[in-house]
Amino acid sequence: MKVAFFDTKPYDVPGFTKYAQDAGIEIKFLETKLNEDTASLANGFDCVCIFVNDVANAAVVEKLYAGGVRMIALRCAGFNNVDTRACFGKIHVFRVPAYSPYAVAEHAMALLLGVNRHIHKAYLRTREFNFSLNGLTGFDLYGKTVGVIGTGKIGRIFADICKGFGMKVLAYDKFPNPASGLEYVELPEIFAKSDVISLHCPLTEETHHLINDEAVEQMKKGVVIINTSRGALIDTDALINGIKVEIIGGACLDVYEEEADLFYEDMSGHIVQDDKLVRLMAMPNVIVTSHQAFLTQEALDNIANTTVSNMRKFASGEPSPETEVCYHCSRKDDCRKERHQKCF
Ligand code: NAD
Repeated sequence: MKVAFFDTKPYDVPGFTKYAQDAGIEIKFLETKLNEDTASLANGFDCVCIFVNDVANAAVVEKLYAGGVRMIALRCAGFNNVDTRACFGKIHVFRVPAYSPYAVAEHAMALLLGVNRHIHKAYLRTREFNFSLNGLTGFDLYGKTVGVIGTGKIGRIFADICKGFGMKVLAYDKFPNPASGLEYVELPEIFAKSDVISLHCPLTEETHHLINDEAVEQMKKGVVIINTSRGALIDTDALINGIKVEIIGGACLDVYEEEADLFYEDMSGHIVQDDKLVRLMAMPNVIVTSHQAFLTQEALDNIANTTVSNMRKFASGEPSPETEVCYHCSRKDDCRKERHQKCF
């Protein structure tokens, strides 16, 4: 199997090289992202390996298919950047459903602690020998209510971490998990009662701009919002307005709606053109990290291992129903994998 590996970063190469060599898979590492302009670079390859900000829309899928690609191997969990309907019947799509939910949940808590206790400001102050505490007051997490939206692998671990801090957890999920022991409520109750709201659901048509003006209006004054899931779960205008009118007391953003051309790149020598991001970054109660919640050694190793295993299985014709996705998979009554072990 020959793989075109898009959007390569230095930390991807060692793990993927090791596992691919063991599996007899040939990988060409490309720095460019996958999009309509670059899809032809995959001509003659069997598989493209892509990450969160590569684009596999219908036009890209057509080009990949025409060039001989039969597999898209996502080296991440989310697959909102792939048009799975366009892929159906042509290109099999695989992902890494879990590589370290702990990595993401722990980063969400790190951001919450950072924003709440102003660690980002304190760090800069003490480096300049400014030992003043003015403006650094936070609040105890103990006894506060956290609303967890999406109680899959990451959301449940984040809920457990919050319980460890003595927080009360309210949960919302479209498909509640009765075995989780969580207290499920509807979204308006999450918005009205939570001191902290953390997003852990996938980005779908339904969850796009889940946090919008209407949601913000229902929230408790001072609420801290954490998004380690996907940027477009939050309407950025609503977030900025919510912070300006002081309903939202803090924002912890590992993802951002328009991150695709910025995140993962060194933009320090450029004038960033995204005024909304610049506005957010200028606010003292906002911490932005560059989609790094997944970035632990354990996660990188699991990502490389599972992704190469997906490639090896696909090449040998072995099904991998737990990692293959298609648009039918989200339609529980019509998922063909149940019967055939493969989406088509
Ligand atoms: P998961 O599939 O285990 O859980 C997702 C949960 O969301 C499920 O319980 C599902 O029922 C629920 N859900 C689906 N539709 C919903 C809706 N409309 N409203 C509310 N809940 C809904 O996924 P996970 O492994 O916990 O990952 C969650 C998300 O985290 C992923 O979709 C991905 O976008 C994001 N993620 C981010 C990073 C990062 O580095 N920042 C890394 C991995 C994953």
